[in-house]
Amino acid sequence: MRLSFHGAADTVTGSCHLLQTAHHKILFDCGFFQGQGLGDRNADPFPFDASTIDYVLLSHAHLDHCGRIPLLVKGGFTGRIVSTMATYDLARLVLLDAAGIQSEDARRRNRKRSRSGEPEAKPLFDTEDVLDSLDFFDTFATYDEVLELEPGLRVTYRDAGHILGSAFIELEVQEKPQGPTRRITFSGDLGNLDKPLIRDPQTPSPADIVIVESTYGDRNHRNFDDSVEEFKEAILTTLERGGNVVIPTFALERAQELLYVLYLFYTAGDLPRCRIFLDSPMAIDATRVFTKHGDCFDEEALALAAEGGNPFRFPALTYTRHPDDSRAINGHKSGAIILAGSGMCTGGRVQHHLRHNLWRQECSIVFVGYAAEGTLARQIVEGQAIVDVLGEPVANNAQIWTINGFSAHAGQQTLLDWLDHTGNPETVFLVHGEDKAEEAFAHQIDETLGLQVRRPDLDSSFEI
Ligand code: ZN
Repeated sequence: MRLSFHGAADTVTGSCHLLQTAHHKILFDCGFFQGQGLGDRNADPFPFDASTIDYVLLSHAHLDHCGRIPLLVKGGFTGRIVSTMATYDLARLVLLDAAGIQSEDARRRNRKRSRSGEPEAKPLFDTEDVLDSLDFFDTFATYDEVLELEPGLRVTYRDAGHILGSAFIELEVQEKPQGPTRRITFSGDLGNLDKPLIRDPQTPSPADIVIVESTYGDRNHRNFDDSVEEFKEAILTTLERGGNVVIPTFALERAQELLYVLYLFYTAGDLPRCRIFLDSPMAIDATRVFTKHGDCFDEEALALAAEGGNPFRFPALTYTRHPDDSRAINGHKSGAIILAGSGMCTGGRVQHHLRHNLWRQECSIVFVGYAAEGTLARQIVEGQAIVDVLGEPVANNAQIWTINGFSAHAGQQTLLDWLDHTGNPETVFLVHGEDKAEEAFAHQIDETLGLQVRRPDLDSSFEI
């Protein structure tokens, strides 16, 4: 068998790994490249013939794991896509959103291009392409159920505890009847422990070959409960001094986790009189998917639901889908907790809320996710005195909080514990990590588990 790495190798995004067996070609994920200078890679042709791929085993719905599926279908893919049902529902949202952004982007570029006489730019894929590709999702996995895709090819999806519906994938390949079975495990993205709403990552079975993510291979996270306390302090102190709280937030998972935590504050009577706004159509849609997939919830969330509690519907919470309702939030000068995208403030409605609140000392901006270099979020976090918001200079006067324990990814120790349960694999391939994180993680694996580790380069290939 041959395993090759066509994304999330040398980098965190673009997850896409090809397994070639005697009879099949199987992709683990088919994700989008994201981030500075990497986006152009999405336009490159696949280094394999898309029409020869038999299966895509999709780990979860983040764009950097599913975003090139429409391109695969445009390239002639006619195989089967396997995922959990929740992943399908979320991937649908994520891909349609991406198609919208790309079409908008192409329109903007074309205004300039037509003035300079250049040929029209086309989006990489549009809404129709996404709808076409959704037809190929035809095999839905339930956690722990062994799916026999065909004789000699069995796959089991296990809960990865990363986002709703996320999975790590255990594949068993038997190339000849009565021949040996090879077990290949792909971690997808593994979740942090004790996250709200969803369960912790499951324990993997022994494997011969493991492909494991290493996003936070070089560090451990702060305890989740401490982060919740800090989050509460940020909100209470801000409301007390008569300000608003703006929380730039990712639409998928993070927004729902924060609603859950806010709901717990609310029902415990910890919050003063206030209004909570979820001001993101995408986050509102994703929240609806969450309510549909209660089967993915952890014990606490299930117990809450059994008592009739609903973290996505309570009196203090308002969904503002319509732009007019979003604008009306500007009328609240105090007592508002506003969750809006994008998480790194590079676009979306949060920019309007920053324009109205960032310059006011009594307000707070609470960052609960990663702020990449070069983004508005990073400029605010780093304390730049004046920042550019929607083409206007705005004073960075509000209190800035950065709370890191809400990470969706496992820290180093959780990754090591997970890996330890795969037994004694012949080779561990590290993917989905920056250089520094992968190097540190490789060192730790060698030191504590003594396993053979490889760090594949982009488009590199290995006989396994
Ligand atoms: Zn992910």
